[in-house]
Amino acid sequence: MKDSSSVKSFTEARNIILEHASPLEAEPIALLSLVGRVLAEEITAPWDMPRWDNSEMDGFAVRASDCQLFSRLKVAGYIPAGAIAEGISVKPGTAVRIMTGAPVPEGCDAIVPIENTRVDEDAVIIQKLVRTGDYIRYCGSDISAEELMIPAGTTLRPVDINLLASFSRRTVQVYRRPEVAILSTGDELVAPGEAATSAQIIDSNAYSLAAAISEIGAIPKLLGIAQDNYESLREKIGQGLKADVLITSAGVSSGDRDLVREILEGAEVAQQFWKVAIKPAGPTAFGLNAGKPVFSLPGNPVSSMIGFEQLVRPALLKMMGHTRVLRPLIKATLKTALHNETTKTRFLRVKVEKTSAGLLAESAGDQNTGILSTMIRANGIAVLSAEQTEILAGEEVDIQLLNPINS
Ligand code: AMP
Ligand code: MG
Repeated sequence: MKDSSSVKSFTEARNIILEHASPLEAEPIALLSLVGRVLAEEITAPWDMPRWDNSEMDGFAVRASDCQLFSRLKVAGYIPAGAIAEGISVKPGTAVRIMTGAPVPEGCDAIVPIENTRVDEDAVIIQKLVRTGDYIRYCGSDISAEELMIPAGTTLRPVDINLLASFSRRTVQVYRRPEVAILSTGDELVAPGEAATSAQIIDSNAYSLAAAISEIGAIPKLLGIAQDNYESLREKIGQGLKADVLITSAGVSSGDRDLVREILEGAEVAQQFWKVAIKPAGPTAFGLNAGKPVFSLPGNPVSSMIGFEQLVRPALLKMMGHTRVLRPLIKATLKTALHNETTKTRFLRVKVEKTSAGLLAESAGDQNTGILSTMIRANGIAVLSAEQTEILAGEEVDIQLLNPINS
């Protein structure tokens, strides 16, 4: 039954997955929930910014030509922030007190900051030279009406939210975030916190997958644990197929009781491949149920996390509208040699550090897929192609950084 011809190379597998992962529809979302979301519309300026000529400083609105050093100007009015300048004008020989942001009155062609003046009864004395245009923020000098300010596809940052708010937007269209159902399978599993016999394994995968899903802004939905029997798996997989994406962990290797494959086929999941030429996470399968992605990851915690990282995460990012979905590969110099005896793409957990000699990397420990602590210590993944059987100390290796480097 298990067809080895469906083994895909890493790149083939990732391409197949990305071809079938499309951005979800757009939805209107309120300002307060927008950070990190991907914009599905174009934001152009509805008006000039600033919207009117205004003062950059607390001070006095003047006519520059009236201002010699120590000129004395009669203070003929006051425009606080938020006030309208209509009806107020700067007549020759006078000044108008003005606050930061307030509209510049008629006749004014410069602002003298308060610290460059001295107030003397009902007059102000100019104590520093003034040039035309000083401390005036002109209408449209920052942004012009109709200017494209945030292109579709942008991941919104706090500064983008500021701009949207200042354009008086309360909601904007962003791509919907997928709900991702997570199913742990295996008779040996118990939930964290439950009493476990010496033969039972605590379901940790569901939680690391949920964390990785939340971290990128998608919505995890834990389905709990399915037993290795038809009834339990059918019920849980049926529930999972209602989500936008289903991820199962375990039950896809060659063990006798690994029924996931059979149930998925029965549930009309069209499998695109069953295995990928990678290590860890070789037994990763991908299928489609009415166009919705279904991933089956291996049960081993390190394998499930690396399978998610390499094959699921890019797809979820694409569904959320992101266009840069792969972690960039950066080069680091090896402190000690790395080996790949697998004839597959090999992911090695490494420690990367920043030094005066550039980025240096070394193995984070035992690379056996059963060893979780190596992954805990790692901040990056070295990616060795099938052909890279050995990279020597002093040579460069491609790295995906998972966490910031501690320099
Ligand atoms: P399998 O893919 O079913 O052969 O499982 C491989 C290994 O991963 C076994 O040691 C399982 O006990 C373990 N495992 C399976 N599912 C989980 C899980 N949800 N959390 C932690 N370990 C698991
Ligand atoms: Mg199992």
